[in-house]
Amino acid sequence: MTQNYKTVWENCLKIIKENLGPENDQVYRTWFEPIVPIQLEDNILTIRVPSQFFYEWLEEHFIDLLKRTIRLQLGPNGMLKYSILMDTSIANSPISTSLPSNGRQAISNRAKDMPLMLGPEAGERKVSNPFIYVGIQKMKVNSQLNGNYTLENFVEGDCNRLARAAGFAVAENPGRTAFNPLLLHGGVGLGKTHLAHAIGIKTKEMHPDNTVLYVTSEQFLQQYVDAVRNKTTNDFVHFYEMIDFLILDDIQFWASKGIHTQEAFFHIFNYLHQRNKQIIITSDKAPSELGTLEPRLLSRLKWGLAADLGTPDVETRIAILNQKLANDGIEMPKDVIEYIAYNINTNIRELEGALVSLIAQSSLNHRQITIDLAKQMIDKFVKSTTREITIDYIQKVVCDYFKLPLDSIQSPTRKREIVQARQLTMYFAKKMTKSSLAIIGLQCGNKDHATVLHACKTVANLNETDKQFHYWVDELEKKFKE
Ligand code: ADP
Ligand code: MG
Repeated sequence: MTQNYKTVWENCLKIIKENLGPENDQVYRTWFEPIVPIQLEDNILTIRVPSQFFYEWLEEHFIDLLKRTIRLQLGPNGMLKYSILMDTSIANSPISTSLPSNGRQAISNRAKDMPLMLGPEAGERKVSNPFIYVGIQKMKVNSQLNGNYTLENFVEGDCNRLARAAGFAVAENPGRTAFNPLLLHGGVGLGKTHLAHAIGIKTKEMHPDNTVLYVTSEQFLQQYVDAVRNKTTNDFVHFYEMIDFLILDDIQFWASKGIHTQEAFFHIFNYLHQRNKQIIITSDKAPSELGTLEPRLLSRLKWGLAADLGTPDVETRIAILNQKLANDGIEMPKDVIEYIAYNINTNIRELEGALVSLIAQSSLNHRQITIDLAKQMIDKFVKSTTREITIDYIQKVVCDYFKLPLDSIQSPTRKREIVQARQLTMYFAKKMTKSSLAIIGLQCGNKDHATVLHACKTVANLNETDKQFHYWVDELEKKFKE
């Protein structure tokens, strides 16, 4: 009796589904639903799978299940043949692998010249990841590396020595050191992105055959969302599984969002890691502070090395400024460079920002770069970018304005002028800081949150109805902006 290939595959699916059980419904939908039966001839069932990666995954994870299922359906001589659909721009040359022979071996030998067996409807599916360009022989990936961010340009200091050394080791020996993944973490503007690019560039120089890819977590998330929408998640996964050296920037972006994206990345991570592919991840936060990431993913991040990028000391800041100036061919008096380096100590991005503003100021106004110009500019720069308004600072401004001693706001006194100053402090603290009512109360004479709320309402009312009060609020607001 000749059986219909569709019915045979439908029966197989039933068995597979049952074997996987309802808890693996997602697995079933991901790995079996996309399969299309094509023909049944000589007891060989041909099925079409969307990609080589898909095929490899089936062989690796479900070979026993498939074997048993096929034999149940087609008897002991039953065989399975895969047809892998590739982009039509690829030269066609069929291969097939049959059970029970070792299909995985057969395919991995041919992994480099990718074209595989094509089914009758070859080419209906395209590899659609935006990064991918499928050539005749080899996949070419745009690495997205920024050529300005080199290791040579990355000034070494105590703050980054470990991270830099680990980065170099990884570039030299991708996937072969204990630093996999290499997690670079540190505050904003301390050089994570620069170092990550630099490592990517270095490894490309040393290993030109490796496929290196830099991607931000935001891009990855967006691509994943698009892939889900376009029903191309298999292509998406397939694409990432082909990368030899993957750099994922700013993973903290996923904290508390993108659960499915994280899951997809988790699987990609495992796939790459098992194959000794190198992974570099950067984060604004240390692993211990990334508690909102998916726990399984978080635990993977701790497998390799977490290298910290700290705040540079003043010597490193001077070295960085000198290097930027040398790169741009600009000369600047030593005392000016030192002035900037001593005064901007938050992060390197701001340091650069100050330098660029100073150069712009001097060239626009045809003024010499002198220490005075630097002072004028830096004072403004520091004020407008780095001063964070705190409750303490508000207390100080209010007390100065009313000529009250600083600790008067803390005192339990009910003197009218002090009550008013306290209420104004609470009002501005609520308005200008992110502190909760409870915290504000605590810092303003140990009051409870209801008192703070009452104060805020009172000030808001008086501000509208009382001229004198309105004037104070106005004046104080100006002071905060100075
Ligand atoms: P992050 O990714 O940690 O926020 P970036 O890598 O974007 O920080 O660095 C901010 C700026 O500071 C970049 O322009 C970068 O080139 C520069 N920078 C950071 N670290 C160094 C360093 N060690 N040497 C030279 N420039 C640096
Ligand atoms: Mg960055």
